[in-house]
Amino acid sequence: MRFETRAVHQGQEPDPDTGEVVAPIHQSSTYAFKGYRDLLEERQRYIYSRMDNPNRAGLEETIAALEKGRFGLAFASGMAAISAVVALLKPDDRVIICEDVYGGTYRLFERIMPQYRIERAYLDLTNPGGLGPNRGAKMIWLESPTNPLLKIYDIPSIAERKGEALLVVDNTFATPYLQNPLGFGADIVVHSTTKYLGGHSDLVGGALALSDGGLYERLKLIQIGMGAVPGPFDCWLAQRGIKTLPLRMKRHCTNAERIAQFLAGHEKVTGVYYPGLAQCPGHELAGEQMRGYGGMVSFELEGDMERFFEALWLFRLAPSLGGVESLISPPALMSHRYLPREERLRRGITDELIRVSVGIEHVDDLIADLEGALAAA
Ligand SMILES: *Cc1c(COP(=O)(O)O)cnc(C)c1O
Repeated sequence: MRFETRAVHQGQEPDPDTGEVVAPIHQSSTYAFKGYRDLLEERQRYIYSRMDNPNRAGLEETIAALEKGRFGLAFASGMAAISAVVALLKPDDRVIICEDVYGGTYRLFERIMPQYRIERAYLDLTNPGGLGPNRGAKMIWLESPTNPLLKIYDIPSIAERKGEALLVVDNTFATPYLQNPLGFGADIVVHSTTKYLGGHSDLVGGALALSDGGLYERLKLIQIGMGAVPGPFDCWLAQRGIKTLPLRMKRHCTNAERIAQFLAGHEKVTGVYYPGLAQCPGHELAGEQMRGYGGMVSFELEGDMERFFEALWLFRLAPSLGGVESLISPPALMSHRYLPREERLRRGITDELIRVSVGIEHVDDLIADLEGALAAA
């Protein structure tokens, strides 16, 4: 089956008892044994909803299939999925983290992990040679494209140099439609299903995909043992969203490309970050490892930030991304607000940087909105 077909069918066959084409929401915390014998001989798949439930099992199968992995694991949020991966680490383990990492991941590593004596090193991995001999790192943490500067990392080259480390790739921005890191040698793929997979800004969830059986057993134990699992309804919503992922991603990509071109030609815009633009440093690499350039665009405004944001009528000033509706935010006041200012500026996240999650509306309406706001700025 091809991607589009899997997105609609895998892990979502009609119910064998009722024929329901769409899986029902199995809103039950517990499952009755048919008899004592079934309990004695462990002959029942579903027992208690934290351990497993039909909606979660379906979603996990879908995500594994789309990421070309053998296993999927669903969580209550992207951060819960990330925390489960980080729980694989032991005191004195060393982690190499790409510099442009998601704010929540940075906070987890800097505010919570130090008490477990996890050593962290932030490296600019745009030159994989910079990884050097990885000096005994147990984990390498990567995002590509990154947030908010849309940097592209060479996943296959980093995988070649990972040594003993587990290579973890947060694939939230690219989605499995545009990029499959497991095929490039990554060990674990992370998703915030809150974003493109869910796609409608109506749920919070996370997921992992992987192929190694031993690693899966360890992560499964963490999933059910630490218990940050999603409810049946959120799994159902994520699965419903995934059915249209290919259609939405195509539109996100074409809209974002047009918007990036529009911004690049505007006099009040001093810089545009979008891997689909030939002048962006990650352009060639993105062409090799992705099947499209994604729906995220960032740019530098030369003008009044408040007047710009006040003049917008279609773009919503809100955090998050990946929904059908276009969202816009200044990372300095939103996703990167709590990064020390000096560190933030050193990473190139200026006060005038604006991040756009381009939705699936008509692109002419989106451009008209930006045009008006730029005129007002
Ligand atoms: C949103 C996001 C997360 C965190 O996901 P939540 O569902 O908000 O917990 C992690 N990584 C990336 C790249 C994200 O955009």
